[in-house]
Formats: sequence, C-alpha cells, structure tokens
Amino acid sequence: MAIRALLVEDNAGDARLIREMLIEAGAREAVTLQHADRLSTGLDALDARKIDVILLDLSLPDSSGLATFESAHAAVPNVPIVVLSGLDDVELAVRAVQEGAQDYLVKGRVDGGTILRSLRYAIERQRLEAARQDLEHQRDEFFNSVSHDLRTPVAAIKAAVGVVLANEPSGTSAALHRLLGNIDLAADELTRLIDDLLEIARLQAGRVELYRSEVDLLEVVTRALRSLEPLIQARHQRLELNLPAEQILMSVDVQRFSRVVRNLVGNAQKYGRERGCIRVTVERTPTDVQLLVGDDGPGIPPAERERIFERFYRTAGSAADGPVGSGLGLPIARGLVELHGGNLTLDSEPGQGSTFRVRLPLT
Ligand code: ADP
Repeated sequence: MAIRALLVEDNAGDARLIREMLIEAGAREAVTLQHADRLSTGLDALDARKIDVILLDLSLPDSSGLATFESAHAAVPNVPIVVLSGLDDVELAVRAVQEGAQDYLVKGRVDGGTILRSLRYAIERQRLEAARQDLEHQRDEFFNSVSHDLRTPVAAIKAAVGVVLANEPSGTSAALHRLLGNIDLAADELTRLIDDLLEIARLQAGRVELYRSEVDLLEVVTRALRSLEPLIQARHQRLELNLPAEQILMSVDVQRFSRVVRNLVGNAQKYGRERGCIRVTVERTPTDVQLLVGDDGPGIPPAERERIFERFYRTAGSAADGPVGSGLGLPIARGLVELHGGNLTLDSEPGQGSTFRVRLPLT
C-alpha cells in the first residue's frame, strides 16, 4: 500500500527536489506526497486526512528549531516524524531524534531511495513501538487485576490460620504447630509479594501519590530498622548505625520512605555475609541528605549494576542459589525515591560488598 506522507517544507525548491527524487526512485506509486509550507497548515492537513509519516523541516515561517518538532510530535504523537535538516543544523536534528523523532535526513545528501527507506523504517519502528506500549499496558492491567484478586483469598487464609493458632488444643503435636506457623508465614510472604506487585504497577502507571509530612528523617530510619532486627540477629550480623547528632526535618511520605529503608537494609541482611556487618549511615550535605546502606556480601558484578533496578531482575548468582526474592524491591525503592525528587544509586565492588546510596534534596 502506498505510504501517505506529509512534507512540511517552506523552501519550494527543496520540496520540488524531494518530490522529484521520490519519483525518480520509482516511488511514485509507493508514496503519495502532500505538501505544506507552514507548521500550522501541515497540522491542519493532518486533521483532514490520514497521514502515515511526516517529513519535517525544523525551520518554518511559523516555527523554528526543536520547538517545531515538539509541536508536531505533541499534536500527533502516534505519527512518525522524519526530520529534514541542513548541513549546518545536524546537531538539532539529532536532538529531535533523542526527543522521539524516528530519523533525520540531511538535505542535499540524500537520494530518493534513501528517503523512501527512511520513511518505511520510520513507519515500521513507530508501529512496533505502539505495539510494545500496548503490550506493556495490558501487562500492567493484568498485574493490577490479578494482584487485587489474590488479596482476598490470602487475607482469608491469614485470618483462618490466626483463629486456629489462637484456639490450638493443648494436645497439638509440635509438627502440626510448626506447619500452622509455616502457613502463617507463607501468607505474610504472599501478602508482601502482592503488595509489591500492586506498588510496581502503580509506579509504572504513574499512579503513586505521596502523602508527605514534616518528620525527623532519623526517626523514620531507626523505626524502619526495628522491624528487621530479628532477621539481622538470626544471621548473627552486626548493625552499625552512623547518624548525625542533630535531627533532620524533612517532608517525606513516611510509609513509602520506610519501605525504601526496609528494602535496602533487608537486602543487606539477605545478601550480606552471615556474621557480617551492615552499615547504615545518614549524612547531611549543604544540598541534600544521603542515606547509605552498606554490606560486606558478594557485591554486584559491573554488568548487572543497572539491571538490578529493572523489574524482576535478579543477579545470576542470587537467582541460582541465593535467598528467596522477587526482583521487585529495588525498582520500587528507586521509583519511590525518584518520586521524592531524589535518586538511588549503587557502589559495588565484586567481593567487597555493596553500598546503596539514597540522595534526597533538602528543598
Ligand atoms: P529481591 O531481593 O526480592 O530479589 P530486589 O529488587 O530487592 O529484589 O533486588 C534485585 C536483585 O539485586 C537481587 O535479587 C539480588 O540479586 C541483587 N541485590 C540486591 N541487593 C543486593 C546486595 N545488597 N548485595 C548483593 N546483591 C544484591
């Protein structure tokens, strides 16, 4: 089927040349070319007819520079755009590609075949991108509905086993008591996993709203650590806490920030060495507050340092025979820290432990 292209170009000579080159390349049948010499008339044309791809010069009488691309892209985000540039503004064209243009062509340096190929690739890439976004959307919806549906039966199991444990007859065998305890723990684990799935789906969809309040950050950190103390003791680890003497008043979502602390320290506890040391440090700089969580575990190989922040990613080592995990904790932690305007990074040397660093701006 013929490609319906819109050429937005105010230089009549350049427009004619492009048309002729396409005809010469035997593309008269393959492309129906519509022409506009202003951005506004080009966008009007898009309203009136179905266009598959736009060939866009960035310097037009009614718009210039990157703003030309931004306006066109905002008006028709689903139509691929190939930017036309002169030799002297290639850099601008590259920036347009970084912002979402599918390609750029340098005028005077292309022939009909090159233009045609660029248009075809642009349409194909945009189609694949739309399909990818659609799949991602479906997957997020799926997570969301499955997680919601799982909540009710798990809550029922938790409640039922609680009643049984509270009314255990005195003659219950130790083995049966242990089994009941295991059901209770497994229900807790499942609840945490469902919560993580829901939180990541919300983060992905941009649906997390922070409930900020002015609190002493040091108190939030020490409270969050309390819930991990039994686990730290169970692996005979030492918790080294380095906090400044003065309180640090900040506006954070206490629940969300506590979750970040629990995740990072929980990972240090899980992946750190047995009988090792977990270091939690809070520092205040003139511009931000930093929370560092360090352990003396195996560290994370350089190739996996960014990947561990992806959903479901677990390092090859821990996925094979490491502690149980879902690969959701770090992407959630990073997403929540970024919602607070901060960032979460990792310093890690293989064999020398890992240190995760949260930076929160002081403003
Ligand atoms: P989970 O711990 O549930 O698998 P996370 O998203 O919290 O999920 O972590 C992702 C992966 O990063 C972990 O599976 C583990 O491979 C690696 N990882 C996280 N923290 C550490 C750490 N402190 N030391 C070594 N590896 C870690």
